[in-house]
Amino acid sequence: MADLSKYTKELSNVFSTSGNILLISHINPDGDAIGSQLALYQYLKSAGRKVDMMTPNYLQEFLKWMTGSELIEVFIKERKKCRKLIQNADLIVLLDFNHSNRLGEAEKDVIAARAKKILIDHHLDPEDFVDLIITDASKCSTAELVHELIYALNGDRPFICKPYAEAIYVGIVTDTGNFEYGAYSSRTFRIVADLLETGMEKEKILDRIYNNFSSDRLRLQGFTLNKRMVVMPEYKTAYMYLTREDMKEYNHVKGDTEGFVNMPLSIKGIHFAVMFIEKDGFIKLSFRSKGQFPSNEFASLYFSGGGHMNASGGEYRDTIENTIDYFLKVLKDNIWRFGEGE
Ligand code: 5GP
Ligand code: MN
Repeated sequence: MADLSKYTKELSNVFSTSGNILLISHINPDGDAIGSQLALYQYLKSAGRKVDMMTPNYLQEFLKWMTGSELIEVFIKERKKCRKLIQNADLIVLLDFNHSNRLGEAEKDVIAARAKKILIDHHLDPEDFVDLIITDASKCSTAELVHELIYALNGDRPFICKPYAEAIYVGIVTDTGNFEYGAYSSRTFRIVADLLETGMEKEKILDRIYNNFSSDRLRLQGFTLNKRMVVMPEYKTAYMYLTREDMKEYNHVKGDTEGFVNMPLSIKGIHFAVMFIEKDGFIKLSFRSKGQFPSNEFASLYFSGGGHMNASGGEYRDTIENTIDYFLKVLKDNIWRFGEGE
């Protein structure tokens, strides 16, 4: 684990001396992006700081109940307002990503900003485009890292505030699939114990995250499993794909396919699951693995992507058929990476 104490003094200093603080999370923000952003917001507001928040594009429905989410400005919706926030910021904190292209259409403006920029993240191989990088890949989520930093800033005591606890919890739960995968540790559970002390209603939060879908989404899930899944036990792999037409048929809205990629890992003997989704002019790939198959290396070697060992993604500019053909070819070259055993 990275030694976070070396950041405490600098953070404390920069948080208390920066006039306008702007918190930015990544494009297509997930629960961890919004959770870590709102948690840091709650902490800084309680310390009397002037804080604004921005995302490159829209939040998904299942995150809109979160306290403070309505205060997050969306760059592609309010360009003028967001540009002003970026230009006027003295400090910009970037959360849950480590490459500038994850800023989407806000990338140029953020790079050009005069503000001091700090990145707080838990992915590997950060790009050097900021003034200070605080990163720890041993943390299950950026939310956990944000919590540890605030814990230190708060004199080694948890910061007690219900909206804060909910935000950290959302980050941890969504990045670990409700404690099923990812780099969670015994410390993660101790943190959750502290969060529960705030009166946070765990079941209500899980219900809002996981039971918030349309019937169309459930039917699309059924269709995907039934008609669009190919299982290859000889390669310990299963893949699924969805064309634009498939998604149209089920009135697909953004976020509907989230989590689908995990499903084939519930098949005995399947250690690698892949989802191909047809986008406008390219195919988006999601990878999930269990055991020692480094899905992120695979993503970066063949699909201009990256991520975590067991959860990663990438893209490929071709038709869905050609992308799948190419995937099958490179998969065969990489079966040695699964290692021995079941
Ligand atoms: P998902 O499959 O949920 O879209 O992405 C899982 C994880 O893979 C993300 O948290 C992110 O770390 C990583 N990831 C997904 N797509 C890309 C990509 O195109 N490039 C990189 N570098 N990482 C990605
Ligand atoms: Mn994350």
